[in-house]
Amino acid sequence: MPTFRAPRGTRDLLPEDRAVFDRLMRLGADLTHRYGYRAIETPLFEQAAVFERGIGEVTDVVEKELFRIAPRTEEAESWALRPEPTAGIVRAYVQHGMQTWPQPVKLTTTGPMFRYDRPQAGRYRQFWQFDVEAIGDAGPAIDAEIIELGHRFYAEAGVEGVEVLVNSIGDPACRPAYIATLTEYYRGHAAKLPPTEMDRLERNVLRLLDSKDPDMAEINAAAPRITDHLCEACSAHFESVKAHLTALGVPFRVDSGLVRGLDYYTRTAFEFYVAGRAGQQQALGGGGRYDGLVALLGGKPTPGIGFGLGLDRVALVLAEQGHIVPTDTSPLAVVVSADPDDTISRLRIASLLRGARLAVRADLGRRKLGRQLEGAGKDGTHFAVILGDELADGHVQVRDLQAGTQRVVALDDLARELARAEASHHHG
Ligand code: AMP
Repeated sequence: MPTFRAPRGTRDLLPEDRAVFDRLMRLGADLTHRYGYRAIETPLFEQAAVFERGIGEVTDVVEKELFRIAPRTEEAESWALRPEPTAGIVRAYVQHGMQTWPQPVKLTTTGPMFRYDRPQAGRYRQFWQFDVEAIGDAGPAIDAEIIELGHRFYAEAGVEGVEVLVNSIGDPACRPAYIATLTEYYRGHAAKLPPTEMDRLERNVLRLLDSKDPDMAEINAAAPRITDHLCEACSAHFESVKAHLTALGVPFRVDSGLVRGLDYYTRTAFEFYVAGRAGQQQALGGGGRYDGLVALLGGKPTPGIGFGLGLDRVALVLAEQGHIVPTDTSPLAVVVSADPDDTISRLRIASLLRGARLAVRADLGRRKLGRQLEGAGKDGTHFAVILGDELADGHVQVRDLQAGTQRVVALDDLARELARAEASHHHG
């Protein structure tokens, strides 16, 4: 047993894992560029109140999972690591007066999020999200555009069979009446409610709908549906979102039990699943409209919509579906030398080639040439640059480790020759 291990609920992304994340992050950057988003970075921690207010006090994320930072004595501030990026981005929108920019302001970020949850498969205390936010457009067209962006991300990442679940959770005009109806329904079943749900019933009844408690499944299945209680404006909005999705060819299913874990959502809510695996632990990503959030965090009332896609889960599904392709990270060439002690020449030539933007390894061991060459081909390196007596008059030997051929090349031509060989190797 090693003395130190990564903290519970976190994991190291070893180079092979990191390469998958890299590919997903590049895809996210490319895709958001195509859709007109600009990248933003906000701090990994904020005043806890940003999340308490922005996410809602009666949510799992704030009640149980907020990763609080113990305050230092000299600072009275209360901080927390971000459990999701939206509240921080909206805080930045308000702080920097982005409401005076052309609307909507379309922002994207990718990075680690923190939730002090009980760790299990696909549920970590530090996990990565690819996030997209469009602030300042009331929709409904942009709702569909964002859902299509998310759906395309999975398609281009190579995840098979991703299904979109959508719902509308109403707005301040129609939700209060629905909440009253729902509360009455659950009160009627009070005898069967587990204690935690009983407690939430009076504080935030919507939470009961996405309860993870198996005892709730039957009661929830018969609960009044929000989609039957939408006001005319919310209903028209929802119909239009669905019409846009259909026109864009995005496959979706309405799930009236989908209320999302966070308080600030209004109207459109959606989640992405691999078909047939719907369930709390399996959501690949989710998002929704948050028309009340900007005002809640001190800005003037401004609509917004966004999503967060969990990269850890995408990587897991890609592995399960057999789509993780090992990345070729071997260098183009390795520099070896006939003189076991001459590490200076090896580094000098390697440095020259690296300056010409080539990927080159220098064998810095003090081994005989034969042993250096033996090691050279093992990692898939294509060429060995061999430094011998010819170096004195500006020449080296270049061995093609795959073809087994070898020839003398002038140092002046070396970078160009290797670059040309690399290009023809990659294209041929
Ligand atoms: P949420 O804001 O809870 O809907 O999270 C959005 C997405 O982030 C989820 O659909 C998951 O893919 C991912 N996610 C959320 N929490 C975790 C976690 N604890 N570990 C790994 N991924 C998570």
